[in-house]
Amino acid sequence: MIKLSNRIVNLNESDTLKMAALARQLQSQGVKVINLSLGEPDFDTPDHIKEAAKQAIDQNYSHYTPVSGYLDVRQAVAHKLKRDNGLDYTPEQIILSTGAKQSIANVVLCLVNPGEEVLLPSPYWVSYAAQVELAEGIATEVPASMENGFKITAQQLEAAIKPNTRLIIFSSPCNPTGAVYNKEELRQLAEVIVEHKDLYVVSDEIYEYINYVGKHESMAQFEFAKHRVITVNGLSKGFAMTGWRLGYIAAPLAIAKACDKMQGQFTSATCSITQRAAIAALTGTMEPVYAMQQAFRHRRDVMLDLLNDIPGFITNIPDGAFYVFPDVSYYLGKTDGDTIINNVDDLSMYLLNHAHVSTVNGQAFGNNKCIRISYAASEDNIREACARMKKYLALLY
Ligand code: PMP
Ligand code: GLU
Repeated sequence: MIKLSNRIVNLNESDTLKMAALARQLQSQGVKVINLSLGEPDFDTPDHIKEAAKQAIDQNYSHYTPVSGYLDVRQAVAHKLKRDNGLDYTPEQIILSTGAKQSIANVVLCLVNPGEEVLLPSPYWVSYAAQVELAEGIATEVPASMENGFKITAQQLEAAIKPNTRLIIFSSPCNPTGAVYNKEELRQLAEVIVEHKDLYVVSDEIYEYINYVGKHESMAQFEFAKHRVITVNGLSKGFAMTGWRLGYIAAPLAIAKACDKMQGQFTSATCSITQRAAIAALTGTMEPVYAMQQAFRHRRDVMLDLLNDIPGFITNIPDGAFYVFPDVSYYLGKTDGDTIINNVDDLSMYLLNHAHVSTVNGQAFGNNKCIRISYAASEDNIREACARMKKYLALLY
């Protein structure tokens, strides 16, 4: 038996990726699985971005790039942050990485010492907790419930902060709940954070463009708090570029430099071709992005209508991202005469194995009453998936 490190033995597998893999495995056996587990747009990358990548190949952008990314791409990110978010950052404060996932991992590894604490307003995105554990930090949940719109309050945050709390990581729009913090709510959280020495916040804004309530609000907009904020964003969701792997941070200079050093030992830099295409994404037309956002909004409404028709599903209205996070606790303890549904993981597996619809259990996001259903799928698939879920859930008693 090969002796692996405790680090990897104790690491949880990503449940989002695990469910997607199980769905693919069933599909390869000829089962018609509808995959509503993986959070990725089903759209293709817009043409003008693809063209820029093709040109980059022909122009031989085939060499290592600076670790933090080409200067003109970081300038394009700075331009975007000013245009869309009113934020002033210099290119030196921007580090491009192999997806926002790596951007966040860099920050966690650069700020958190073993034994130090990271607060995760929950439900939170799966990989936050795993990355904190890899850094040997302590991930502590600050729970938000459906009744308060899956958002934490400044009072809750204040009460959760300890002397060794170094970081808070949250996403808005939120994966998995779709919750969107408004400007006043963000201001109140920022006011708490700045009162505590050495406390930073990762503001994960990867779903920025998939927002149904109006203008996106960035945590770093508050000048009094900007020195404590690491803004994370990327191309995966808004531009339908999950496979291209480009995420970035905009951060206080010392944190950006630390992440540059960290990444220099891990991945060097993200793909040169992707970086060239990023300029087209960040400075080109936003029409395709808005069209996708409109499509997601329509699908959300279709999905909510259909889920409201399933007995026992309690659902809030997500204001952004492309997930619904219904409370399904009504089904816990029920059985189809064969399988007992003891927890939300069992329910998610039941739906996969019987309805052939893949979802993700809420436990992966720190919530044991809900499951996550992605509506980044065609309307036909959404309709078919909801009909199948309804049919098989009705067999539970
Ligand atoms: N943050 C959140 C909240 C996400 O849902 C995801 C999912 N992809 C990421 C970060 C990472 O995105 P990527 O690495 O594809 O840029
Ligand atoms: N972020 C997406 C999700 O939550 C993609 C999978 C992943 O990176 O975890 O489904």
